[in-house]
Amino acid sequence: MMEDQTAIDAKFMAEALREAEAAAAAGEVPVGAVIVVDGAVVARARNQKEATNDPTDHAEIVAVRRAAEGLATWRLSAATLYVTLEPCAMCAGALVQGRISRLVYGCRDPKAGAVGSLMNLCQDPRLNHRLEVTEGVLAAEASEILKGFFRLRRKDDSKRFGELAELVEGA
Ligand SMILES: [Zn+2]
Repeated sequence: MMEDQTAIDAKFMAEALREAEAAAAAGEVPVGAVIVVDGAVVARARNQKEATNDPTDHAEIVAVRRAAEGLATWRLSAATLYVTLEPCAMCAGALVQGRISRLVYGCRDPKAGAVGSLMNLCQDPRLNHRLEVTEGVLAAEASEILKGFFRLRRKDDSKRFGELAELVEGA
């Protein structure tokens, strides 16, 4: 019997959560992503913008770059991207540009999410590419990693992360 899609999604989201945990351990806002093609992970990434001082180094962007490089094509039409947090406008735009076929995300980002919260860039009929979207996969776990991170951070670094911390609190 073929593995159920829900179980497959949970399996790969668990891998994205491991990336998020590694980001937290490195002092980065914990968001992780993996890209899957034909049932195999072709790229893993985590938010790393504190380390690189690059505001575009969100988990999704880094994962898309790695997958495109590894597969030697910018057309990632066979790919599914799993990410722990709803993508922002920049990342949602990159998924459209990369022709990713499917997006699976964990929890929503009510303050910056661009795939259902503030807008839906991945399913806008005016754009030339749309993605199949599944949300809420291991959402409680994804949210808990963010909350735990900000709970610890708030004591010493509330200014820096204050805004996103509030957002996660409200989620
Ligand atoms: Zn982003």
